[in-house]
Amino acid sequence: MTKRAFNFCAGPAALPEEVLKQVQAELLDWQGKGLSVMEMSHRGSDFIALAAEAEQDLRDLLHVPNNYKVLFLQGGASQQFAQIPLNLMRDDQKADYIETGIWARKAIEEAARYGAVNVAGSGKVYNFFAVPGQNEWKLSKDAAYVHYTSNETIGGVEFDWIPEVGDVPLVVDMSSDILSRPVDVSKFGVIYAGAQKNIGPSGLVVTIIREDLLGKERSDCPTMLNYKVAADNDSMYNTPPTFSWYLAGLVFKWLKKQGGLEGMKKVNQQKQELLYGYIDSTEFYNNPISQTSRSWMNVPFRLIDERLDKLFLEKAEKNNFLNLKGHRSVGGMRASIYNAVGLEAVQALVAFMKEFEREHG
Ligand SMILES: *Cc1c(COP(=O)(O)O)cnc(C)c1O
Repeated sequence: MTKRAFNFCAGPAALPEEVLKQVQAELLDWQGKGLSVMEMSHRGSDFIALAAEAEQDLRDLLHVPNNYKVLFLQGGASQQFAQIPLNLMRDDQKADYIETGIWARKAIEEAARYGAVNVAGSGKVYNFFAVPGQNEWKLSKDAAYVHYTSNETIGGVEFDWIPEVGDVPLVVDMSSDILSRPVDVSKFGVIYAGAQKNIGPSGLVVTIIREDLLGKERSDCPTMLNYKVAADNDSMYNTPPTFSWYLAGLVFKWLKKQGGLEGMKKVNQQKQELLYGYIDSTEFYNNPISQTSRSWMNVPFRLIDERLDKLFLEKAEKNNFLNLKGHRSVGGMRASIYNAVGLEAVQALVAFMKEFEREHG
């Protein structure tokens, strides 16, 4: 029998079992064509239809307005850290960034290579245990854009609100919370997300960009990093990551079957309430994040007695709970509970944590 663990990995993360089974069934012979999606031309009508369907399903899920392009790109979210300024900020311009943790910091450092970066708001005063409220931000009058990170995957802080920045394009790194609940795409200039958290396999990054922001790139912007080139070529200027695109398409279909993003929101709300609720109810575990900034997707927690960390992880693994070790920069534990990690996985985790507390508390 195939063994499937409860996988709380931060990324590449768990994928829906149903999707993996379909991929397995179709691997050798996709839709009676006698070959795998991995082995077909991206210029052929089969792949073009598959790619367009995946895009349409994503548009449906997020209600993407018609004046936005949806791009399927490579290089992960980290490459977007450079691609954003290369496309939206010229030498003499500046951009506002909101600092909320490690991923925002990386985006800031990369953008600073191309122009002036103003850190307009920072969670530093809260030890990055909360996102800074918009009343604390000092936005520039003439910024090329405002960038923020809607969910800090490592720190476990998330915005449960969308900033208001007037006419300045709002750019968001949504890598670890895209598709976890409904979001108003029309509030954004650019949304980008690496696939390996809530979309599909790594190797793919999805960028949703308002059309009027295309064609503003710096003159030295590499062709492969130019959003307009990608948009004009339906994300196929060169060979795209075809298998990741196909698999992402299956995840989008799966999400639709779960009731779309309203459906996901319901389950994700229950999952996080259950886990935080238990952590808050005991002295044995602790989560330091302020109530209003707690991530629904990544839940860092500590055992009050750190000497038990090793034993906790050993027992967890023996019981089929994988990847609960916190990020090396933070320590402690982290449970990533993305869309593909069901309520039953979180229920099982909480039961395990209770049992561990009973034995060692
Ligand atoms: C994982 C992650 C990244 C980096 O993604 P890569 O695809 O590895 O480059 C960036 N930002 C956030 C918020 C992430 O969770």
